[in-house]
Amino acid sequence: MTYVVTENCIKCKYMDCVEVCPVDCFYEGENMLVIHPDECIDCGVCEPECPAEAILPDTAPGLDKWLKLNAEYAEVWPNIVAKGEPPADAEAFDGQPDKFEKYFSPDPGQGEATSAPQAPQSDVPAPKT
Ligand code: SF4
Ligand code: SF4
Repeated sequence: MTYVVTENCIKCKYMDCVEVCPVDCFYEGENMLVIHPDECIDCGVCEPECPAEAILPDTAPGLDKWLKLNAEYAEVWPNIVAKGEPPADAEAFDGQPDKFEKYFSPDPGQGEATSAPQAPQSDVPAPKT
C-alpha cells in the first residue's frame, strides 16, 4: 500500500506534504508532486497536511490512473525534501475541475538541488597543490 497524490495538487503544490514525510519520497514535476509507491512507508502523516486534500491512500476507490501516474513520474522527476515557494496563483486553482486535462505537465520540476537557497561559498582556502 502507498499514498497517492491526485488531481487537485496540479498547480497548487503547497508542498506542506514534503516537510512531514519521514522517508522523503516526494518527487517534483513542473506543477505537481508525486509519491514514489515503492518508497512510501504508508505512515499517512502527509494526508492531513495537504491543504488541497490531494493525497489519498491507494485503498480509496477510482485511483488507478493516479497510482500509475505517481509510479511513472516518481521514476523520472527529481526528489524534493524541503518545501519551496508555492505558486502565487495556487489558491485560484484549488478545486478547479479537469485540472489534469487542462494543466498537467510531464516536465520535471527543479528538485532539491536548485530550489534550495544557494549555500554560501566556503571561505576555507583551497589546499595548495
Ligand atoms: S501539500 Fe498537497 S497540493 Fe501541496 S504539493 Fe503536497 S500533495 Fe500537492
Ligand atoms: S504516507 Fe508517509 S511515507 Fe508515504 S508519502 Fe506520506 S508521509 Fe511519506
